[in-house]
Amino acid sequence: MSIPVVRAETFYLPPPARHPEDWSQIPPAQRVFRWAEHRQQRRLVPPAGFILGQQAFARINHNRWVADCLCGSAQVVTPADPRMACTECGLGWIRLVFPEDVAAVEASVAGLLPHERNWWHDDDPAWDRPAAAEDEDQELVALVAETAAAAGLVVGTPRSSLSPAIEEASR
Ligand SMILES: [Zn+2]
Repeated sequence: MSIPVVRAETFYLPPPARHPEDWSQIPPAQRVFRWAEHRQQRRLVPPAGFILGQQAFARINHNRWVADCLCGSAQVVTPADPRMACTECGLGWIRLVFPEDVAAVEASVAGLLPHERNWWHDDDPAWDRPAAAEDEDQELVALVAETAAAAGLVVGTPRSSLSPAIEEASR
């Protein structure tokens, strides 16, 4: 059986001296506050309100569901409680965007070794997203230009030949 993708409720667990179910009554998205509280030995209170109109994309990063805060911090998140508040900068709760079919996305990476499992939402403009699609576009543009050149065609319209038409139309 494949190793599952890690979620907040399987990552933010009580310290070993406590019963493993000690935090089971805490909503999964809030457990990071107990976890950071224990690690940092300082009181951390989850924010009370939601920030309306703000959202972040959840992604799979080396087999963990994670999301980034605006401050650059990140945390393990969960589709079971799709929201995030930051333990570092104090950002209030924001909505997290998960894929519509979480199980299908998890299944799509299941064949990879856990540390190689990465996935980004289609709309996620993440800085660390691979540019594979852009590279493919560039290759296609180069191929079209090469084929056209071999056939003696010029691809694209030189600006000088467009200008008279534009001038005429504007009269
Ligand atoms: Zn933050």
